Amino acid sequence: MKISDLRFACLLGHEKPKKLLREAAANNKLGHAYLFRGPDGVGKKRTALTLAAFLNCVSPGNSDSCGRCPSCRRYFSGNHPDLLLVEPEGAAIKIGQVRKLKEQLAFAPMEARMRVIILEDIHTMRREAANSLLKTLEEPAPGNLLILTADLAGDILPTILSRCQVIPFGPLDPEEMAAVLMQEHGLEKTAALSLAAVSEGSLGRALFLHQAELLPLRQEVVEELLIAERPQAEAVSAVFRLSDKGAALKENIGEFLALLRLFYRDLVLVAVAGTETPVVNRDMASSLAAAAERWPLAELHKRLRRLDLAEKQLQRNCSRSLVLETLFFDLL
Ligand SMILES: [Zn+2]
Repeated sequence: MKISDLRFACLLGHEKPKKLLREAAANNKLGHAYLFRGPDGVGKKRTALTLAAFLNCVSPGNSDSCGRCPSCRRYFSGNHPDLLLVEPEGAAIKIGQVRKLKEQLAFAPMEARMRVIILEDIHTMRREAANSLLKTLEEPAPGNLLILTADLAGDILPTILSRCQVIPFGPLDPEEMAAVLMQEHGLEKTAALSLAAVSEGSLGRALFLHQAELLPLRQEVVEELLIAERPQAEAVSAVFRLSDKGAALKENIGEFLALLRLFYRDLVLVAVAGTETPVVNRDMASSLAAAAERWPLAELHKRLRRLDLAEKQLQRNCSRSLVLETLFFDLL
């Protein structure tokens, strides 16, 4: 992680949460437990780390960390002794992890003014583990700040919710995301804009799609989908070629199907509201217009249901190649 990474000035988007936290910190009005709630990959954890660095910076200025003092350096390198991270072990944060955390909190912080404890993906926590955390959440010892993160979809126990100040995090702006993808990850402009567009405001998702190289295959599949007339033998060979490539994605197939779903969802939008309507796949505007003319709405819904079926089959551990072959046979 770069030295400049954990300053508010370097944090992408989320103006409201940033303002609220900086002002509360400056006026000594921070709560003792926050819940950062929003989509995956938009920067909730990074915001928590940034706040931790700021609260312990030796010479802060402009409501931000200096980025140079020994404390900042330790946070930026990711190994400050008073930064405690608790993330799900396997599918969830377990009661054993909460017990261990409570033991750690029985001791005073080693050097930080404010020890920050980040509990990630709290929506994965079961009741037993959550109950074990309640007392700590309600009344942490002075000098401790708890920051919980959770996505939007998961349910959070009311007992947890009622003990935290909830700060909502929204999706990031695609233009800003594209700029980061270009500057920090060396992507060229077209690729950065496409990735930002289909990632629905999640920088984490954009980076994942980039690393897994899912966009080129999406492009190829959509181009094949748009070929209206061709000899059957050609269509069959296309089905097998695409299925092989798709099956090679292994555990990322689900993400790939989600991209295809976005394409059809955009088509439904265009079919209903016309070509001027804002779509997710902005890099494919011309294909969308052509495709929307081709398939009536009922046919698009049928195709979306076909994708549902493929996703269910994958969840039931059916053969990946077989699921994709039958899917592409139906779609092409
Ligand atoms: Zn500093």
